[in-house]
Amino acid sequence: ATARLARDCMRPAMTRDGRRIEVGVNVTRPDQVAPALAAGADGVGLMRTEFLFLGRDRAPSEDEQFDAYRALVEASGGRRLIIRTLDIGGDKQVPYLDLPHETNPFLGVRGLRLCLRRPDLFLPQLRALYRAARHGPLSIMFPMVSDLDEARRAVQLAGIVRSEVDGPQVPLGIMIETPSAAVLAEAFAGIVDFFSIGTNDLTQYALAIDREHPTLAAQADSLHPAVLRLISLAVDGAQRGGAWVGVCGGLAGEPLGAAILAGLGVDEISMSVGDIAAVKARIRQASLPALQALAQRALRCGDNAAVRALAQDAFEMVR
Ligand code: PEP
Ligand code: MG
Repeated sequence: ATARLARDCMRPAMTRDGRRIEVGVNVTRPDQVAPALAAGADGVGLMRTEFLFLGRDRAPSEDEQFDAYRALVEASGGRRLIIRTLDIGGDKQVPYLDLPHETNPFLGVRGLRLCLRRPDLFLPQLRALYRAARHGPLSIMFPMVSDLDEARRAVQLAGIVRSEVDGPQVPLGIMIETPSAAVLAEAFAGIVDFFSIGTNDLTQYALAIDREHPTLAAQADSLHPAVLRLISLAVDGAQRGGAWVGVCGGLAGEPLGAAILAGLGVDEISMSVGDIAAVKARIRQASLPALQALAQRALRCGDNAAVRALAQDAFEMVR
C-alpha cells in the first residue's frame, strides 16, 4: 500500500474525466524543493521569503538573497516557481527592522504595505529576484494587497528594477488574501498576470477572527461558506480578467478543501509537502462535474459544519 501511494503521488492530479489540477508545494528554504518534487509536487506554488529574514540580527544582503533565489531556480529545474516578496508584520515580527508598535498589527503595515514604505528592503529583494531570473524561470508575487494602487506601484517598481539589472520579463502576481482583493479580482487582473489565494489570511479577515487566537482560531474555518464565496468571486474575476489563479493557503492542503477548490475552477493548489499524496488521491476520486456540483452546493450552505458534512457525504458515496 505504501509503495502504491508513493507511485500514485508521482502521477498528475487528474479528475476521472481528465481535468488536471496543478499541485504546488509551499517552501521556506531552497533545500526543501528537491524532496517536494520527489514527493509529487509539480512546482513551487509559494516560497515564503520572510524566512530568510527571521532568526538573525540584520537583513540578508542582496547577494545573499540572490544566492537563495538562484538555488531555488536551480532546484526547480524549469517548473513553476512562485517567490513571494517579504511578508513581514502581522504575526511575523523582525526585531532589527525597528517597526513601530501597532495596536492591530494584522490590520497595519504588513506585507506589500511595508515593502512600499521601505525601499531599503524592497529594492534589494527585487534586484536579487531579477538577477536570479536570468538563471531560469521564476514568478514574483506580492503579499497582503488590498488596493489596486498598491499593485500598480509594485509592478512599476519591479519594471524599474528589471531594467536596472537587465533581468528578463517574469510573471508578476499578487496574493488574494484580503476580502477587498477577492471582490476586486477582475480589476487586479488588469494589473498583474496571476493570483494565489491565501486562505489563511482571507479567512481571518472575512470572519474577523485572529488566525492565532487562543480560543477562537478553531472557528476560523476556511470551509466557511462566506470564505468560499469570496474565493469563488476571486476565481470568477480571475477568469474574466484572464489571470491564472492558484491557492496557497491551508485549505489547499485539506483533501475536502482541495476538492471544492478544484470544483470552483482554480488552476493550481499549493500545500505543505506532507499533504500532497492525500490531496492528489482525493482529486482523482471524482469527476470535474461532480466537484463543480459539490462546490456550488457548498456556496449555498449556512455554516462551515454544513459544508464539511456535505463534502464528507459526497466522498463517502464515491468510495
Ligand atoms: C495565507 O495567508 O493563506 C498564506 C498562504 O500566507 P501566510 O500563511 O504566509 O500568511
Ligand atoms: Mg497570508
